[in-house]
Amino acid sequence: MPGQILEPGQIEAAANIPPFLHLPEPDLFSHRARRLRSLAANHPLGAYLLLMAELCDAQQKLLDAPPPLPGPDAQSQARSIEHRMPPLGFDALVRSDAWLPALDALLACYRPHGNPSVNAALAGLGEADGGQRKAWAIALLNGQFDLLPAALVPFLGAALQAAFSHWLQALPSERLAENASQTLCPVCGSPPVAGLVRHRGKYAGLRYLCCSLCACEWHYVRVKCSHCESSKHLSYLSLQRDGTAADKAVLRAEACPSCQGYLKQCYLEFDEQADPVADDLASLALDLRLGEEGYLRRAPNLLLAPGSTD
Ligand code: FE
Ligand code: FE
Repeated sequence: MPGQILEPGQIEAAANIPPFLHLPEPDLFSHRARRLRSLAANHPLGAYLLLMAELCDAQQKLLDAPPPLPGPDAQSQARSIEHRMPPLGFDALVRSDAWLPALDALLACYRPHGNPSVNAALAGLGEADGGQRKAWAIALLNGQFDLLPAALVPFLGAALQAAFSHWLQALPSERLAENASQTLCPVCGSPPVAGLVRHRGKYAGLRYLCCSLCACEWHYVRVKCSHCESSKHLSYLSLQRDGTAADKAVLRAEACPSCQGYLKQCYLEFDEQADPVADDLASLALDLRLGEEGYLRRAPNLLLAPGSTD
């Protein structure tokens, strides 16, 4: 309210409100590529992580010099924000032609050498028409992995991420407010890939959920399941590496007995280079362990089709 004078209690309350959003840096895909390369050393899936690093380099090229990507206009974004709807709702945007130039641009600049199965997947995507590409993308973003060839997933996912991160950069995000449901991205409506517990400045100690699609991060209180919102009896599981104590692990899965789901969390105080997508891909052994204990993975990672690295 313009001109409203805050009482002392209100001032303190306002000062304690955590920042709702943490927006990705403009070089987010370069950062991810560097992280993947450092995680690839002596890793059983090293070749796959290096391949994904090259793909992230291509995503950064797209973000730095995007093709024309006609996203939603300012008026419809403002209307969505006013009605507490995601202004870049993926459900409608993926059905439009708006993101298709990102896939063409990715196919033009991503040239990994010497991997026949990757080349076959890229050729398959290149030959598909717009309708087929959209059908695959709709299946991917809705988690219906049986409706598209697994080999296409990382490349289709990478193009979609680049398009949505491009639109996110242009969004008047300061006008976004928390929705009733905090388990989906307030910008595009996608589920999180992982959480980040930040360690610097006004974000220190706060947990943010990282969107699997547009890379926006939104505040979500700690010790609360990101799927069913229960706070009861959550446990934290990590892979023991190099004798690191479990409470000092960079990556831990927050597992919920109420819904049998889990979400991985990166603790930046223990490694500030951690990246939600890269560290998730490098810790698939933790998913296997959680699966054996009866937990279900619900977080999508658009650079990975479930079971494709078996
Ligand atoms: Fe998003
Ligand atoms: Fe839960």
